[in-house]
Amino acid sequence: MNLWYREKHTENQILSVKVTDVIHKEKTPFQELAVYETPEYGTILVLDNYIQVSDQDEYIYAEMITHVPLFTHPNPKKALVIGGGDGSAIREIVKHPSIEEAHLCEIDERVVEVSKKYFPQMTVALEDPKVKILYKDGIKQVFQSKDEYDLIVVDSPDPVGPAVNLFSKGFYEGVYEALKEDGIMVAQTESPYFNQDVMKKAYDDISALFPITKVYMAAIPTYQSGFWTFTMGSKKYDPTNVENMRKQDFETSYYNQNLHYGAFLLPTFIQNILEGK
Ligand code: SAM
Repeated sequence: MNLWYREKHTENQILSVKVTDVIHKEKTPFQELAVYETPEYGTILVLDNYIQVSDQDEYIYAEMITHVPLFTHPNPKKALVIGGGDGSAIREIVKHPSIEEAHLCEIDERVVEVSKKYFPQMTVALEDPKVKILYKDGIKQVFQSKDEYDLIVVDSPDPVGPAVNLFSKGFYEGVYEALKEDGIMVAQTESPYFNQDVMKKAYDDISALFPITKVYMAAIPTYQSGFWTFTMGSKKYDPTNVENMRKQDFETSYYNQNLHYGAFLLPTFIQNILEGK
């Protein structure tokens, strides 16, 4: 079998990954969903022809989008993940003993069902009694919530299909209102090489609302260019200067508390993009 998964990164660049098995393929009411077995990345979950997670490197994204804001907040009790139907962000959130409730708001039930079947290590926490799954548009959920969450994680795909509005200023306004007075949001904000406009717009929109807005990075092999950014908006706590940071009493494979600070040290070209230079 000589099958290749191809993902278009730009007009001039395509990623090709050898596929050893087509495990699942369907068109859900929201998107094209596929699961492939690959020699390099293990099992990958693909939506609308973009890799969402691979079971080889999923821990990097899942740990960085959750533990950085959670260790910034002194006592996070209630968290919301928007998107994130693969379950990996929720799995990390419930590792924090202070968490009493974690909501997963995923628009597409099929992503959760298929992830449960083929990615058991990512979905282990979905049965946790602290976790509640809401199958609806994340935009609805934030506009129906006020002063409710300590943390909101925007674990969205690229800004295509049902995720386009998750990158809008109006949505971030809803997120701001849904957070408590000392709440924190974090969003995945794409590649600083290939999606500079998306990253810059998210930074501008979030910093227009939140007094503390910081971008941090992680290296994720399966995402375009490998370099990935996250943008945090915080009402009170500065992630680069955390007072009495709680001790990490569980294991991680990428995040650690030195890296927590190191991840905010940005290369000059990214600083320049964010400053509009
Ligand atoms: N880590 C991934 C990445 O950066 O590519 C994102 C993973 S997660 C699978 C993204 C999820 O967001 C998808 O399952 C998709 O169905 C969901 N989604 C897209 N738009 C949404 C919306 N408006 N509300 C809630 N969930 C949404």
